[in-house]
Amino acid sequence: MQELLAQLWTPELQAALTVVLVVLVILYVLSVIWVVRDAYLRGSYWYVWAIVALVPFIGVIAYCLLRPPLLQIDKDEQELEIALKQRELMKYGECASCGYPVESDYVICPNCHSRLKNLCSTCNHALDPTWTVCPYCAQPVGGASSRSRRSASSDRTHQPHQAATPRSR
Ligand SMILES: [Zn+2]
Ligand SMILES: [Zn+2]
Repeated sequence: MQELLAQLWTPELQAALTVVLVVLVILYVLSVIWVVRDAYLRGSYWYVWAIVALVPFIGVIAYCLLRPPLLQIDKDEQELEIALKQRELMKYGECASCGYPVESDYVICPNCHSRLKNLCSTCNHALDPTWTVCPYCAQPVGGASSRSRRSASSDRTHQPHQAATPRSR
C-alpha cells in the first residue's frame, strides 16, 4: 500500500493536486467575499452571514437558500415609489364623501357626484370652498357676504366702549 502510494505520488500528480487545492482555496475566499458583499447590499446582517460563509461551501449554499430576497437598492426604490404615489394622492386629493381620487381642478366627484368646488360666477374657474374671493378675476364669492358681516360684528365687540361694559360676556 505504501509503495503503491509512493508510485502514484508522482510530481505530476502533486502539481495537479496543488492546482486543484489553490483553485478551491480561491473559490472559497471568493465565495466568502461574495456572501459578505451580497448580504451587505441586501441590507442584512452581513457579519452573521460572514461567519456562516466561513464554513467551506456549505455556508455559501446555506446563504443562497436563506438570503433575503430584495437588494437594498431595490428596497429603497420601492419605498421611493410608494412615497411618490402617496405624494401624488396628496396633490390630487380624495373626494370627501366617497374617497375617490380627484384632481385639484375637479368641480364634482366623478364617482358619487358630490360637489367638490364652487365655480366662479364670472370666469368659471374652480374655487376652493373656503375662498371668499376668486383669485382669477377678483370677484367676491357667494359666501363672502355672510363672512364679512360676521367679521364686522366681531370688529364691533373690539370697540373700546363695548370692551368697557362687561354685559356682553
Ligand atoms: Zn365622491
Ligand atoms: Zn373668477
